Amino acid sequence: MTDKENEVVYGLVFSIFRLLATYIMSNTKYIFVTGGVTSSLGKGIIAASLAKLLQVRGYKATIQKFDPYINVDPGTLNPYEHGECYVTDDGAETDLDLGHYERFLGVPTSQANNVTTGRVYQYVINKEREGAYLGKTVQVIPHITDEIKRRMMLLGEGDAYDVVITELGGTAGDIESLPYIEAVRQLKWELGDENCIVVHLTLIPYLSAAKELKTKPTQHSVKLLSENGVHPDVLVCRTEHHLYNDLKRKIALFCNVTPDAVIEAMDAESIYAVPLEMMKEKLDVICLKKLNLPLGEEPVLTDWKEFLNKLRYPKSTVTIGLIGKYVELQDAYKSILEAFIHAGAVNECKVEIKNIHSELLTDENTVEKLESLDGILVAPGFGSRGIEGKITAIRYARENNIPFFGICLGMQCAAIEFGRNVLGFSAAHSTEMDANTPHPIIHLMEEQKKISKMGGTMRLGAYKCDIKPGTKLAAAYNKEHIEERHRHRYEFNNDYLKAFEDGGMVFSGTNPDTGLVETIELSGHPFFVGAQFHPEYKSTVLNPAPLFVAFVKAAKARKD
Ligand code: GLN
Repeated sequence: MTDKENEVVYGLVFSIFRLLATYIMSNTKYIFVTGGVTSSLGKGIIAASLAKLLQVRGYKATIQKFDPYINVDPGTLNPYEHGECYVTDDGAETDLDLGHYERFLGVPTSQANNVTTGRVYQYVINKEREGAYLGKTVQVIPHITDEIKRRMMLLGEGDAYDVVITELGGTAGDIESLPYIEAVRQLKWELGDENCIVVHLTLIPYLSAAKELKTKPTQHSVKLLSENGVHPDVLVCRTEHHLYNDLKRKIALFCNVTPDAVIEAMDAESIYAVPLEMMKEKLDVICLKKLNLPLGEEPVLTDWKEFLNKLRYPKSTVTIGLIGKYVELQDAYKSILEAFIHAGAVNECKVEIKNIHSELLTDENTVEKLESLDGILVAPGFGSRGIEGKITAIRYARENNIPFFGICLGMQCAAIEFGRNVLGFSAAHSTEMDANTPHPIIHLMEEQKKISKMGGTMRLGAYKCDIKPGTKLAAAYNKEHIEERHRHRYEFNNDYLKAFEDGGMVFSGTNPDTGLVETIELSGHPFFVGAQFHPEYKSTVLNPAPLFVAFVKAAKARKD
């Protein structure tokens, strides 16, 4: 054989060995969750609920999300476009559905759990530039689909998980989703139906004029998927009315799935009730059956039910004002709103959120807009729009002993407010809003000054924070060392540490490696805390964020 032939043979043997290693020796099973008919059906919640049920049955499950947009990650997206950008421990800026996965499963996600078309293409194009394709024409099929498949199976490598659930963003029929559907088709063929199933989430609309539930849109969306070679194994049907048995049979018959694979998903009172609804509907059972896996322990979900009960029957209500500039879009503050639900349940009270647009808050209307609140939260954000309204609200909270919690930009505004109104630095500001301020209380770190590219270059992910004993922070966490997640460029300027301390500000949390300020608080106030980090990202149903719990408790105490 010539050298060239040898190379080809070795290459082939190696590829076959790799295929065997990944496909046959791996025990990981794959579930793909697709969506049809319309967007916003709640694929993320269904995927998270299914993962939760598999988790309590004893399976190690994880979820990942594949988004068909061209941004490399959602980090550069305006919150109005795509809602909150969720941050993981390893500093990935990701889709907000990853927040749901963590809140449901209580297991951290990472960069690998969120893939976009932009990231896939970036990787393939970089490889092409390196000459890795050896003169081949680089094409959507097979190069892009191969890269999608590689990433779809990445979390399953080394049998780290028994089940990997992949949520595909977009809706069946979208042009941009086609390479993902093709990748799923190939994986199903390569791995076999026992190792790879598709759960399709669809809508059964109710026509009130006809008083009828309609199955045709579902039939069409299944047909669309099938045209692309993927036939769903399970259908989860979102509906406002119960699906009676004959209708389920009709859906099963015309969509060509087994009758037990038609799952009803009625609108639920809370996203946290969905795992229990899916348990009743046996979504987990049908998936395990199709994957030929034992059912494991019957799910009990005692803690979860206890949490839901507290949510359903609160003993009191507190009203928290959420001061932000993206308040028109609730998804922009998703993790904060969810953290309040978790913290409310612990305090056995309902947290009612009053959205207050920071741009509309002035010295004249502050009292009228804020006086009925039991607590004030100033939200994270970027840029100068609405900044003065935030500072006004903080002053009001500080001077009137209203519990205050500032997150990231909210903490920075609290420092600016203190600088201006307590220490008398009347033009104090952040250099983000005023590059020439004589008192840059908040400024850019040296490393950040060199940065010209915006994507993925903030201070991102988990950083350590040492807690000063005897502070509100210490009381909330009951720990000396914590780690919380960050997403910002600007920091408290340590040149002002002494002036602030002399003025009565307490620096209760500090990063041990850099000396950067992590949290500030006031001691003579019932609750005045600002955190440079985002505690909301780590709040889960069974592990609520301590600062949210303490803040809600303070709001409750004020109300009482
Ligand atoms: N804009 C501020 C910064 O970059 C705060 C960011 C935030 O609130 N997430 O530092």
